[in-house]
Amino acid sequence: MAPRILTLANQKGGVGKTTTAINLATALAAIGERVLIVDLDPQGNASTGLGISRTDRAVSAYDVLVGEASVAEAAIMTTVPNVAIVPSTMDLLGVELTIAGQADRAFKLRNAFKQLGELVINELPVSYILIDCPPSLNLLTVNSLVAADAVLVPLQCEFFALEGLSQLLQTIEQIRSTLNPRLSIQGVVMTMFDKRNNLSEQVLADVRSEMGELVYDTVIPRNVRLSEAPSYGKPALLYDLKCAGSQAYLRLATEVIRRERRLNAA
Ligand code: ADP
Ligand code: MG
Repeated sequence: MAPRILTLANQKGGVGKTTTAINLATALAAIGERVLIVDLDPQGNASTGLGISRTDRAVSAYDVLVGEASVAEAAIMTTVPNVAIVPSTMDLLGVELTIAGQADRAFKLRNAFKQLGELVINELPVSYILIDCPPSLNLLTVNSLVAADAVLVPLQCEFFALEGLSQLLQTIEQIRSTLNPRLSIQGVVMTMFDKRNNLSEQVLADVRSEMGELVYDTVIPRNVRLSEAPSYGKPALLYDLKCAGSQAYLRLATEVIRRERRLNAA
């Protein structure tokens, strides 16, 4: 079966896209999935957070997008069992210029996935691909939305959470009505929830009333372990499995799988 392709998109920076990519991938792997992360952010935080050194990035997402390498050639195993990554390099900053004049500029990633064949990790096919987007609605994010089956939107529990969301939803709708009719929204995950802060509760209530069922039951708490783990080149689940952040990502993974089953059955 072809892997399910989920993209983590929100044009705001610092909302938890990369933290969710790393820890959701690890949590999915912990419950039996085989996961490939594609790091599309020139900052490369997902690559660094998974302990991939610069010297290990000889072949990167840039090479895949410009057609100089296949996904299989660019994918490297991480130290997390059953999690591989197509790493990012700063070259990605220049990719827009390279492909902007080409007719298939929005289809670069989709075309690369078409030639995926049976991408395997530990001799079994990859079951999930998670794409970590840059904080922008640029051509990189558009490529991810064109290539994906569904979008997972991380929203930070802060006063301006809903601001900017309508622009993202509009972009998703545009891509669905033109370039990728099968694109759906997997869900909205609220991040950095602080239970001691009344504002967090209020924001959560507002987003739930606005977005309804799309919001996952699982809310990711503000948890210092989640922010410490990347400096050790590890996901939080391998750094401190028992912390509230790791446990929340495990619950999120089961919710994501449940929704996938529902979407596939529909
Ligand atoms: P994005 O990829 O959307 O820019 P990140 O995942 O990099 O966002 O998160 C931004 C910053 O917030 C990072 O320093 C990260 O470690 C921290 N962070 C993310 N989620 C949490 C959380 N639930 N609790 C505490 N810190 C978090
Ligand atoms: Mg990021």
